Amino acid sequence: MELESILLPGMEENRPMVIAGPCSAETEEQVLTTAKQLSDRGVKIFRAGVWKPRTKPGGFEGVGVEALPWLKAVKKETGMYVATEVATAKHVYECLKAGIDIVWIGARTTANPFAMQEIADALKGVDIPVLVKNPVNPDLELWIGAMERINNAGLKRIAAIHRGFSSFDKKLYRNLPQWHIPIELRRRLPELPIFCDPSHIGGKRELIASLSQQAMDLGFDGLIVESHCSPDAAWSDAAQQITPDVLDYILNLLVIRKDTHTTESLNELRKQIDECDNDLIQLLAKRMRVCREIGTYKKEHGVNILQTGRYNEILDKRGAQGVLCGMDQDFIKKVFEAIHEESVRQQMEIINR
Ligand code: PEP
Ligand code: MN
Repeated sequence: MELESILLPGMEENRPMVIAGPCSAETEEQVLTTAKQLSDRGVKIFRAGVWKPRTKPGGFEGVGVEALPWLKAVKKETGMYVATEVATAKHVYECLKAGIDIVWIGARTTANPFAMQEIADALKGVDIPVLVKNPVNPDLELWIGAMERINNAGLKRIAAIHRGFSSFDKKLYRNLPQWHIPIELRRRLPELPIFCDPSHIGGKRELIASLSQQAMDLGFDGLIVESHCSPDAAWSDAAQQITPDVLDYILNLLVIRKDTHTTESLNELRKQIDECDNDLIQLLAKRMRVCREIGTYKKEHGVNILQTGRYNEILDKRGAQGVLCGMDQDFIKKVFEAIHEESVRQQMEIINR
């Protein structure tokens, strides 16, 4: 993907970039009161949902186009950038007409390639930042594919939002964080800014601080947090919204560690890691050579490749030994499962030669 590194002029220095505002725009007064309180506390980007995707019919589905002038008023009165969710081409046209600065794509929309293509087509030739939430299901390719559609329409200011993944078990999180997925996204697309949405991951306000800190520790670029002037009275997602005051408190407590830290001692430690990895590879190569010898023996003596008893013994013994060395048994088992799988593959090659 061809991306532009600056999402919004003047915002690139600050980590985290903060987007905050209510789940939904409810009334002009609620929108303006919340925006002013946020702006007074230094927030520069305002969010509010105008069209709301609801799981069940009959819930509050957003005010619709009527709320767009309220966002315009936020821009005029506070100077904040304003952002809202689009799910159809019509939403895109309405937002562009109303001068919305940033649009985001909701999780349910990202999961639908037809809807994504329709939105991408509507955005063709427009230069605004587009934030793409992860799809509801933990499918990294679907997430990247959605962003590629926007990128192919010529838009270069794209960012991802990690909002967690839907699951049957909603005991702790509303949407499971599954951090390995945004971590893999960072590896695949290092230039792509990533926001965390602790509000929709947690589903409850008590979890926002710790989820935000975790996102910062993992090097996320920004946070998008639901904030409402009167959270308990919110028309949607009340349990996860916080006042601008609480948001300010949480943001001030965040510990922001530097992204790249190349002090002498870190370099020294990394050298040790390189040596360990080198030793590991040499040892693995040696182990595979022995395995192939065993393969030849098995072929000559007509012995089965897979010896389940021996395999179980290896997993159990290595797991126990790993624990004695202060490691996690399941982790060691996983490592030896991978090694065993490759050994079997190598022996099969010998047998079939
Ligand atoms: C939202 O941001 O209010 C929203 C509906 O989020 P998601 O698409 O992540 O459910
Ligand atoms: Mn919401």
